[in-house]
Amino acid sequence: MGDRAGRQGRGPIAGLVVAALVAAGCMAGGYDQGEPQQPAPPRSAQPESQTTRADGTTSVAEFKQDIQDAVRLAQRYWAEQFRASGERFTPIRRVVAYSREGEVACAGQGLPRNNAVYCSAGDFIAYDVNWSVAAFRQIGDAFLFYLLGHEYAHGMQVRLGIRYNFTIQQELQADCMAGAYLGDSVRSGALELEDGDLEEFREGLLAVGDDPDQPWFAEGSHGTAEQRSESFFRGYEKSLGACGLG
Ligand SMILES: [Zn+2]
Repeated sequence: MGDRAGRQGRGPIAGLVVAALVAAGCMAGGYDQGEPQQPAPPRSAQPESQTTRADGTTSVAEFKQDIQDAVRLAQRYWAEQFRASGERFTPIRRVVAYSREGEVACAGQGLPRNNAVYCSAGDFIAYDVNWSVAAFRQIGDAFLFYLLGHEYAHGMQVRLGIRYNFTIQQELQADCMAGAYLGDSVRSGALELEDGDLEEFREGLLAVGDDPDQPWFAEGSHGTAEQRSESFFRGYEKSLGACGLG
C-alpha cells in the first residue's frame, strides 16, 4: 500500500471522514427488475481458491454464494495489505441485502432501490438484491466481484482517512482499488477467472458509467464508462500503487 506516512487526515480526523462520507451510492440503475428464482439446494464444499463460474448459472443460490465469496476474498485481500503496512485491520462490519426502498437506512436516510452502497455511519455494505440479481444474470458473476470490491474499497478509504473534494475522485479511486484487488487476487492465485470474465468487468463498468451529459463535478458523479474502465484496469494491471493511496 506504499508509504502513507505523509498523509493528512489520519488519526482524529478520521471521525470527520466518517461523518462526511455517510452513504456512497455507487452504481446506477438500468437493469430490469426481476423476481429472484426459488433458491436451489446449497452447494457443498468450498474450494480454497475462489473460481468464478461459467455463465448461464443464474440461480439465487449461486448469486448468494458469489456475494459471500466476493466479500470473503476482499476481506482477505485487504487484511493482507493492512498487515503488510503494519496497520491494524478491521473488516467491514456486515453486508446486507434489501429489496424495498427505505428498508435499510444509513444514518437515518432510507436507501434507494437499484443501487449498492457503502454506509460509513454504520460501516456496512448494502445492496438492492433484485437489482444485483438482474445485473448478475445480465452481465455475469464477475460483476458481483467488481461490485463488492468497489464497495469494500470505500470502507478501506475511510479506514485510510482518504477524502477527496469531489465524489468522482472518491469513486474512480474505488474503481482502481477494486481493480487492484481483483488483479492481485488473480496473480496470487486466490481468484481464478474464466473465459469471458474480463469482458464481464468491461460490460459491468459500461453499465455503471455516468450519463455523458452529467457534469463531472456534480455531487454523485462517478465518472463516465471510459473513466471508470480506465481506473479499474489501471488498478487491475498495476496494483494498488497506481491508485494514489500513498
Ligand atoms: Zn462508489
